[in-house]
Amino acid sequence: SHSYVGPDYSVQKNTGKISLEQIDALSVKSFPLCMRQLHKALRDSHHLRHGGRMQYGLFLKGIGLTLEQALEFWKKEFIRGKVDADKFDKGYAYSIRHNYGKEGKRVDYTPYSCMKIIMSNPPSQGDYHGCPFRHSDPELLKQKLQSSKIPPSGITQILELVKGMHYQLACQKHFELTHDVDDIGFSLNHPNQYFTESQKLLNGGRELKKELSNSSNSQQRSNSQESMNSNSAPSSSNTTADAELEELEAYFTED
Ligand code: SF4
Repeated sequence: SHSYVGPDYSVQKNTGKISLEQIDALSVKSFPLCMRQLHKALRDSHHLRHGGRMQYGLFLKGIGLTLEQALEFWKKEFIRGKVDADKFDKGYAYSIRHNYGKEGKRVDYTPYSCMKIIMSNPPSQGDYHGCPFRHSDPELLKQKLQSSKIPPSGITQILELVKGMHYQLACQKHFELTHDVDDIGFSLNHPNQYFTESQKLLNGGRELKKELSNSSNSQQRSNSQESMNSNSAPSSSNTTADAELEELEAYFTED
């Protein structure tokens, strides 16, 4: 709906508040399934293809990784695989700095909403991006849910929602089942929202207080009227950012 004026989960409020050592634990506790899948694939294969790097890299930026942390995080993982440090610095580092607005046209890119992930750029063979509720084969999704320790009755409920094409509701159900709450009390539209709400719940509201006491942050204030996700009509600056992102994606299509 165009009237949605809730918090904008694309806005980074926690920059520098998480350490790289926390990411493995956070991915299990507080990441939505799409990001767990990307994190696991990255740890397992020490690589992610372009679509995955964009989706996961921007999500991590949204949960608070600084540019320096992002460079360290990706480099450490990639050099454990087939990419050497020199190749990383010459190629991949550019696109990470680009995501943080430090290269090219210096657009400060924001994390993708569920709508964008569900509706655009579907994953092909060898890709781990996308929304598992939308893009995974039901049998594979079932296995993923089993490995998240979701009880069989919960899996049935989730698969029903997926069958009805209610992907975000399926994800909400996944949140409820993994956090042991009956009703999450919000409508899920952003992976970073999933993360923030999960952290609030697990930390008993401590994160929320931190955010409120941080309200002198000017970026936060200026962003309060731009609280639109891609399910709203894009402003002209969003349109420009989208066009530039397409350009960037076209440039970095090789893996
Ligand atoms: Fe990720 Fe959104 Fe899909 Fe959940 S509904 S898995 S947060 S894209």
